[in-house]
Amino acid sequence: MIDLDASLYIEYDNGTKEPLALIETAVDVGQDIKPATVTKRLAARAGLPAFTVLYTLAATRLEADPSWYDISGFRVKQLVPHESKAWQSFSPQAWREFLYGLRQECCRPLDEAFRARPMNGKVATVVGDCYACGRRIPIDALKAGLCEDCRQEGRRR
Ligand SMILES: [Zn+2]
Repeated sequence: MIDLDASLYIEYDNGTKEPLALIETAVDVGQDIKPATVTKRLAARAGLPAFTVLYTLAATRLEADPSWYDISGFRVKQLVPHESKAWQSFSPQAWREFLYGLRQECCRPLDEAFRARPMNGKVATVVGDCYACGRRIPIDALKAGLCEDCRQEGRRR
């Protein structure tokens, strides 16, 4: 049996609901070890990255919901696909950035497949990135690799 009450989180993409990672959490009391064998095996089977995340509660309460304390920092170990030897410290902002990066990394192939999917039997729109602004638009609207806005503003690749 595995204790799932608020100890195992599944980080997922809000739009597609695709799971991104399994995260085993605990309050940081200075421990060196946080067993997470089941989470690790589950993640390996699912082909998802997994992490153990220890969090330190701040002295202040959350502005959005004062019934909860804020978090002042995290210690993180990756379990899958590579097991970290040491804990790595993250500020809440840095950990948020890390998760955001993970979402982009994990979901890029899914995002691309989603955008390119056939709709109602119609052929999917082929898209490309504008070389100047990076905006993703239908490939027909790109001229010399540039979107219309960038062409009008005289931007170059
Ligand atoms: Zn552009």
